[in-house]
Amino acid sequence: MKYYVNKNAQSNGDHEVHREDCSYLPDVSNRIDLGDHSSCESAVRKAKWYYDDIDGCYYCCKACHKE
Ligand SMILES: [Zn+2]
Repeated sequence: MKYYVNKNAQSNGDHEVHREDCSYLPDVSNRIDLGDHSSCESAVRKAKWYYDDIDGCYYCCKACHKE
């Protein structure tokens, strides 16, 4: 599964990670391709190369979503 990180931060400063099939996937101009990952945990680790504050999307990456 391919994952992406939103270039735009949420109001709390987190950049959300999404799967390619998420209905909340950001527009192509607003996302960074993280490549193929077998789990959101590894996608989140990759996203941390780009941004310090990362959160998994509540809808597509619930296992990686912070409370
Ligand atoms: Zn999502």
